[in-house]
Parts: sequence; C-alpha cells; structure tokens
Amino acid sequence: MIQDKKLKIGWFSFSCCEDNTVVFTELMNDHWQEWKKLFDFRHVRVLKSNNVLDDLDIAFIEGAIASDEHAARLKEIRVKSKKLVAIGACAVVGMPAAQRNYFNEKQKQEIEFLVARFQALPKVLKVSDVVKTDAEVGGCPMDPAKFLEMVNKLVAEFKK
Ligand code: SF4
Repeated sequence: MIQDKKLKIGWFSFSCCEDNTVVFTELMNDHWQEWKKLFDFRHVRVLKSNNVLDDLDIAFIEGAIASDEHAARLKEIRVKSKKLVAIGACAVVGMPAAQRNYFNEKQKQEIEFLVARFQALPKVLKVSDVVKTDAEVGGCPMDPAKFLEMVNKLVAEFKK
C-alpha cells in the first residue's frame, strides 16, 4: 500500500519520433499541480537532467526495440518496475517504427550497412516481444484521454 507516498515513475523512449513524450508534456499544462503531489519523477529526461533508475512504481515505455542494447535496457527497466506500460503504436505494435521489417529484398540490401553500423536487430520488436507489459495505450501519437484513464486506474490500484 502506498497511501501517502508519491508514486515513482519513469518515462523511457526507444526507437520512435518521441511524439508521445510531446503529448505527455502538453498534458502537464493541465495536470502539473496534481501530478507533482502524486508522482516522484525519478527518470523523465524531458523534465530534468538528473535521472535515477532504481525501483520504479510505473515505467512508461514509448518506441520500438531495435537493438540488443535496447532489449537489455528494457529488461533492466522491467526488473526495476512494478508496472510497465507500453505507450503509443511503436511500443504497442511496433509500427510505424518497425517499417524496415516490411522492406523488400532490394530495400533490405540498401539499409544493410546501417543495420550493421548501429548493431540493430534483424527485425524491430514491439515492447511485449521483449518483456511483459501490464497496460498499453495505443495511438500514433497516444490518445491523451486514454493515457489519463490508464494513469488514473494505475494510481487507484496503487492506493488500494
Ligand atoms: S507511435 Fe507514432 S507518434 Fe508515437 S513515437 Fe511512434 S511514430 Fe511517433
């Protein structure tokens, strides 16, 4: 039970355009006063430069997983988080970040040197291909109303 304690949250971006982050920060315009009482922003790079990845209550993950390094980092976040939420289409279904999965042979050959240079996985993965997710908010970018609904639901669960 975390009755009066702030919930420790993290926001992490993998392969994507980070528009979900933009939506998240726009939501702050209306919810900052309420959220600063509710959340300890432990690891949110868009808000601060001093970030800590220790034990989180909720980790929000946007973007698809494109390399072993991404996968290892995501697994580390999973181990350190009570709840993990995939945010936006790239995290939930892989697309549109995973476009190269659908390239034809010629296109694949053309990007071969980039895949090698960035030590990328042969196929881009969605978050649930790598770790268990507890909730998902789809959309490209995420639907703010659905995000708020999910946040309120998780907060209520933690306060039980
Ligand atoms: S889901 Fe869409 S808006 Fe969100 S990161 Fe991916 S491409 Fe960008």
